This record gives sequence, structure tokens and C-alpha cells, in this order.
Amino acid sequence: MALIVHKYGGTSMGSTERIRNVAKRVAKWARAGHQMVVVPSAMSGETNRLLGLAKELSPSRPADAYHRELDALAATGEQASSALLAIALQAEGMPSVSYAGWQVAIKTNSAHTKARIESIDDSKVRADLQAGKVVIITGFQGVDEGGNITTLGRGGSDTSAVAIAAALKAHECLIYTDVDGVYTTDPRVVPEARRLHTVSFEEMLEMASMGSKVLQIRSVEFAGKYKVPLRVLSSFTEWDIDINEEAKSGTLISFEEDENMEQAIVSGIAFNRDEAKISVLGVPDTPGIAYQILGAVADANIEVDVIIQNISKEGKTDFSFTVHRNDYAKAIDLLKTQVLPKLGAQEVTGDAKICKVSIVGIGMRSHVGIASKMFRVLSEEGINIQMISTSEIKTSVVIDEKYMELAVRALHKAFDLDQIPADSARQS
Ligand code: ADP
Ligand code: ASP
Ligand code: MG
Repeated sequence: MALIVHKYGGTSMGSTERIRNVAKRVAKWARAGHQMVVVPSAMSGETNRLLGLAKELSPSRPADAYHRELDALAATGEQASSALLAIALQAEGMPSVSYAGWQVAIKTNSAHTKARIESIDDSKVRADLQAGKVVIITGFQGVDEGGNITTLGRGGSDTSAVAIAAALKAHECLIYTDVDGVYTTDPRVVPEARRLHTVSFEEMLEMASMGSKVLQIRSVEFAGKYKVPLRVLSSFTEWDIDINEEAKSGTLISFEEDENMEQAIVSGIAFNRDEAKISVLGVPDTPGIAYQILGAVADANIEVDVIIQNISKEGKTDFSFTVHRNDYAKAIDLLKTQVLPKLGAQEVTGDAKICKVSIVGIGMRSHVGIASKMFRVLSEEGINIQMISTSEIKTSVVIDEKYMELAVRALHKAFDLDQIPADSARQS
């Protein structure tokens, strides 16, 4: 008997029929003798619907003006789906109880709409499991010190599930979704994308942070920190498939790297349309300018990604970086009103129509020329590279948004990701 955490995404919870299917699947696992904790997302479209209602009522206010209320609002989506799942399980004859994050309690900091989990009290959950109940805990949310409901950022139910699995020292955390695993790239953009049997934790971390929305980045960070065994698999199979087959299906996020992994130089391609580029032009090239620009941005709680500083000409330089598109207007405004006057820089410009495309693979550590191949492929497609950033196992480029799909497809083909032999240990 093992303690298992299941997480079901929005599409998997998208209708009463699907919720019934989830209930039957969970009941199958419980009847096989496992202690089950289930973390559902809101029914698909619900979070967007709720946030849309708020926007209708207050279109002109800055987005963070009512963050506390947005969290209270958005958290109801998961509360509804969790209660519905508990009802469906009980209808299947399976004892179950649902809890909102604050009832557990899942304690977070107070960064509304992007809160971080700080602690989880497992006492109630353990008592219920001991009493033979399936425990359902809302994804995406927690409660801060002041008793305010918080949410963990879009896609945050993945993080709830992994954090709960870590707190309970679960045997495994299974992330059920609308694809049957982690692919070489988003199969909705490249139909030739192939499912990976295993992906190393480090690669998954890079892919998630570079925009592969199949797992929220923080869930992968949690899995790494607490060594939570993690698997991504389909919720769209028949609920009554053999449990042992099901337990082996999908993609395992592996903490061990084997030789096969090094063979595939590039394992995946990630892309992100959520960023915007900001340039501060004509900055005096003196010590401390990066700090003055980026320090102000960080103080405003805005995360910065790719950064470039140009070679200086006549004592002046240009400084560019990317931020999340949601923070774009706020960052530009901040730089214009507070930083530019102090720095004596000439101009702040920006471009919200960019995207970032990244190739990821632990094989890149031991092979040279991978980045240059990426640049060649893009140049052959006539795609201009605006910014580049690299790490040991990834190379990212910032390009015009309109070339994103072309770039991803061309790179997927050029790195033979559609052609990896079927008997390779990593592919199916
Ligand atoms: P859920 O609602 O279950 O959390 P998400 O929509 O958040 O599901 O994540 C699953 C989606 O992630 C898939 O439908 C797919 O379009 C997208 N995706 C992006 N990159 C990948 C990838 N490398 N492998 C698999 N899916 C990916
Ligand atoms: N319902 C939330 C969202 O749509 C959280 C999640 O689905 O993971 O972002
Ligand atoms: Mg998701």
C-alpha cells in the first residue's frame, strides 16, 4: 500500500462526465489498496471566466489594484471542482472529503496571484487517510498569515500537487492531463512531436522555465528540492485500464541520468509567447547601471529574464531585457518615470510582440556546435535573432512572435526530434 497523489488538470475535470471518469479512476486506485490524495484544477475555462468577470467590472484599473479579491474569486473555481469530485466519489461508494487550501492549511506568502507555498499542515489529511477516505485538496491556492486566500499563479495546481506530495512524503505524484506525457515539443504546434518515456529533472526544469506549460515551473522546482517522484500521463484513457499499465504510462521525470539521455543532444524545444522586450537606450556606461535599472524593476516585484548589454560607444550603451507581458506596461512606466531621469539615459523602448524559443538537452553539455546549428537553421528560415541566452543545457533566442511556429518546426526537424528511433529508451 502506498500514498499516491493524483492531480487532474482543467480539461480532465471539464464536465460532469469527465469528473465521473476521474472519480472512477481514483476509486480504482483506492480499491487497489492505495491511500489517495487528489488535487483537481478548476473545470476548463472557469479560471478565465472568473478573471474575465473581474475585468468587465474594472477594465481600467491597474491589474494589481485588486489582487486580493482576484485570488478570492479565482480560488472558487478549484473549490467547486473539488467538491464535485468528492460528490462523484461518494456516488461511487468511495468515502471522500474535499478541502480548500485554507482548510488544510496550505500556508503561503502574501504575494497575491503569484504566492509561494511556505508550509503544509498534514494532520487533517493523515487522519482522513487513516479513516479510509480519499482526500481531495483544491489546487492553485493557499492562505497567507493574515488569513487571506492566495493563488499560486496560472497553472499552479501542478505546484499544489507536488508540494502536497512532498509534505506527505508520497510514493509518487501523478499529473494527469490532456496529453499522454511530455513531448519533444508542444504536440499542438508540431504534430510530429514525440513523447519522451523519461525526461531528466534538469531538462524538465529548463523546459518548464522556458515555457512548456505541461508543468508549472515551481512544481518541477519542488519535485527537485524534495525528490518527489513525478509522472505526467493522460486522463483520457479508459478509467478501467490495468492499473499496473497505467502506473508505467506517460513520462517519468527522472532524477537519474543515463547514457541514453546523453545520446539525444537536444531533447526538447520550448517556446514562450508571454514575454516582452524592453530597451533602455543611451545609458551612461558607468559602474552600477545594471543595478540601477534592474534593481528598480526587481523592487517592483517584476521578474526579468534574458538580459543584454551592448558594447559602449562614446561612453553610452544600450541595455535590453525581457519581462512577462503582464508586467510590460508597469515596467516601462517605472523606467520612464523613476529610472530614466536619475540615469540620464536617452530613451526607453519596448516590443511586446516577441517570443522566446529554446532548445534543451543534457547532451548539450558534451557536444559543441549545437547553438551555432540553431542559429544556422533560423538564418536559413530568414528569422532574425534579437537576443540570445544560454545555460549548460539550453540555448534560447528571442525572435519576432510571428516566426515562432516556423522556428519551432524548423528546429524540431533539424535536430531530428521527429525521427528518433522507436527503440530508443527515451522515446515511444
Ligand atoms: P492541465 O489543464 O492538465 O494542467 P495544461 O494545458 O496546463 O494542462 O498543460 C498541458 C498542455 O501543455 C498540453 O495540452 C500541450 O498543449 C502543452 N504542452 C506544451 N509543451 C508541451 C510538451 N513539451 N509536451 C506535452 N505538452 C506540452
Ligand atoms: N485553474 C488554474 C489556472 O487555470 C490553475 C491550474 O489549472 O493549474 O491557471
Ligand atoms: Mg496546467
